[in-house]
Amino acid sequence: SSIFANVPKGPAIEVFALTQAFKDDASTKKVNLSVGAYRTDVGEPWVLPVVRKTEISIAGDEAINHEYLPVTGLDTFTRAATELVLGADSAAIKEKRAFGVQTISGTGALRIAADFLLQQLKLNTVYYSNPTWENHHKIFFDCGFTKLHSYRYWDQEKRQLDLKGMLDDLEQAPEGAVVILHACAHNPTGMDPTHEQWKQIADLVERKKLFPLFDSAYQGFASGSPDQDAWAIRYFVDRGFELFVCQSFAKNFGLYCERAGNLTVVQKSGATRDQIHSQLTLIVRGQYSNPPAYGARIVSKVLNTPELRKEWMDSIQSMSSRIREMRKQLRDKLVALGTPGTWDHIVNQIGMFSYTGLNESQVAVLIKDYHIYLLRTGRINMCGLNTGNIDYVAKAINAAVT
Ligand code: PMP
Repeated sequence: SSIFANVPKGPAIEVFALTQAFKDDASTKKVNLSVGAYRTDVGEPWVLPVVRKTEISIAGDEAINHEYLPVTGLDTFTRAATELVLGADSAAIKEKRAFGVQTISGTGALRIAADFLLQQLKLNTVYYSNPTWENHHKIFFDCGFTKLHSYRYWDQEKRQLDLKGMLDDLEQAPEGAVVILHACAHNPTGMDPTHEQWKQIADLVERKKLFPLFDSAYQGFASGSPDQDAWAIRYFVDRGFELFVCQSFAKNFGLYCERAGNLTVVQKSGATRDQIHSQLTLIVRGQYSNPPAYGARIVSKVLNTPELRKEWMDSIQSMSSRIREMRKQLRDKLVALGTPGTWDHIVNQIGMFSYTGLNESQVAVLIKDYHIYLLRTGRINMCGLNTGNIDYVAKAINAAVT
């Protein structure tokens, strides 16, 4: 018999299973609201024009070859990424107490961060929001964190942030616990703390001596302004925290499959830089030796060339404003239909996702009777909506709720 005979089959990953079910569905009315990727108003993926242009120029550049990158990645990329998140005038950058290491997109940044925190700082406790992007648990569990906790975040009844629950739960965290904070556009709820609420969170993190780890997967994509979307991170840095930021360029550059990411490290002083950098180098070396260049070259060229950077800013504006328009239309249509419940949370939320508040049986009706695919928790990707399907979706939600 085979050595593999007793390997148990693992559970399906919900979001990918739904996308497959959507593909297999023969209905002409079908709508996919489950994927975590941008779609245009005709439901297509979008290659940002500035990205296409940059790809072509890189492909024709005789000076570029396919030698290995350094273990910690393309220097012009990690510097630009660090500057994008901390701000060009960041004191931490000027004082040389911040640096970046290239990673396999945001997921890879989280994994490298978790490995470092466990191996070098012996931190083994992590807190993530309830709900959160489900991979947070898996990444920290797989790398060996033994104490994995969630903190309350979402008040399902009021359909808003449960700040009191969040603070009460973090109050129980031991010193040195890692707290994962979504920098902006919280996945899956779309609900971010206000500036005032961030101050209260920072006070607690400081008093309890927790380690803040920001997950920044949507910078610029949320509000349309990269500076505005980085407010919370910069606030923590200004207050003097040592922290990590895990950056993804999947959404804001539309570079999903190219795996361009960065782990930004902020320290109290540059004196610890070489120790940290050398340990991160060894972690990357043991996992995949060195990162892919393609996406990093594109991001680097765009961010480091003023005209291209401006074009990119225009594209993130247009993506984020299309999403905001869909939020408004969906809310207005549900209100016009007299759909029971309140729907203002849809416009108060930000970023790609909305936690609709639909329950599991309503979700099941939408999938089965209306061919509208969304996560069991009621999370929808706003980008799956467009002017061609929004009436249909609003009427279906109304029917499922009524
Ligand atoms: N964090 C959050 C909250 C996310 O939503 C995502 C993307 N779904 C990621 C991290 C990482 O994505 P990637 O590895 O594709 O950059």
